[in-house]
Amino acid sequence: MSKKQFETEAIRTQINRTEFLEHSSPLYLTSSFVFEDAEDMRASFSEEKQRNIYSRFTNPNTSEFVDKICKMEGAESGYAFATGMAAVFSTFAALLNSGDHIVSARSIFGSTHTLFTKFLPKWNIETSYFNINKPETIESLITLNTKILFAESPTNPAVDIIDLELLGSIAKKHNLILIIDNCFATPYLQQPIKFGAHLVIHSATKLIDGQGRVLGGVTVGDADLMREVYLFARNTGSALSPFNAWTLSKSLETLAVRVDKHCENALKVAEFLETHEKVNWVKYPFLKSHPQYEVAKKQMKLGGNIVAFEVKGGIEAGREFLNALKMCSLSANLGDTRTIVTHPASTTHSKLSEADRLEASITDGLVRVSVGLEHADDVIADLGQALN
Ligand SMILES: *Cc1c(COP(=O)(O)O)cnc(C)c1O
Repeated sequence: MSKKQFETEAIRTQINRTEFLEHSSPLYLTSSFVFEDAEDMRASFSEEKQRNIYSRFTNPNTSEFVDKICKMEGAESGYAFATGMAAVFSTFAALLNSGDHIVSARSIFGSTHTLFTKFLPKWNIETSYFNINKPETIESLITLNTKILFAESPTNPAVDIIDLELLGSIAKKHNLILIIDNCFATPYLQQPIKFGAHLVIHSATKLIDGQGRVLGGVTVGDADLMREVYLFARNTGSALSPFNAWTLSKSLETLAVRVDKHCENALKVAEFLETHEKVNWVKYPFLKSHPQYEVAKKQMKLGGNIVAFEVKGGIEAGREFLNALKMCSLSANLGDTRTIVTHPASTTHSKLSEADRLEASITDGLVRVSVGLEHADDVIADLGQALN
């Protein structure tokens, strides 16, 4: 069959029906699978046969979820993990050897930064960081030992954008593995493989689930690299549970419509904030005022659901703003149906020095809004009354 549009693949990619001819894929809560006879078992373990053996390796529900993500990202193969961080850790651990070096953007997810600075050095793997807004400095960090180039775009929490095509060309020139954490964009808005990425990682916990229910992660991309990741993962036990895979696979059926609406709401919120007198500046990829607006337009279908802005009055004003909210949630998650507001300088990034915070574009008054699927007018009304 010919390749279908994104929405159609998201809905029509399914595992084979059972004898019951169910319409919607059933849940396979089983830890293992049986063999016909000794020969079947031998051939399965030697991988002469492609089949399910044990759910730490593969399971019909995780395979369906991975197949969908591969089609969405234009990837050859993938593996689903219990969490986004399991995907990040297993991918790096599978591909790196002692003595290898990573070049990464400084503005990355907090736990990924902790992995690079605290844990990977135990195995003699070092990381050098570049400022996401100074991509011209990347090449000066590359050494003979550099193996991986890593970034997220848009970034958390400051919604900076980096040119993926540029990263792809640097990776190609220096023979590096380019890995992109595509969590904030989702495969609906941006497909990094098109721009030269070898692997793409997602925390499925965010917009892929989209309803704040389950944790999950996935890595997809080049088949040879994924083979390494798969062998590491199947032996170290970070597999996604069939139940969560089943939930996430259903979530993907509505990813496009949900993300369209998230983006429409987020743009309205961003436009409202831009006109508000208590706001110094607003950052949203599809606002003309965003410094990388042209790059965002080139590589993203829409601007995403995260809006960053700075309230006037610094740290105290940021805290007061959070306390004045009546509807929006104060929560650590993002990409939920419910709008979530955080103040990084007093919470997630409070342990960083001011200089380090500024290096990651986190100013004292920075507020991050993960715009949900409530009516945009109600979200705007809540943010507006809290600002006033
Ligand atoms: C949340 C997040 C992760 C980690 O995912 P978990 O599912 O929470 O483990 C990694 N990267 C980014 C960009 C995230 O937002």
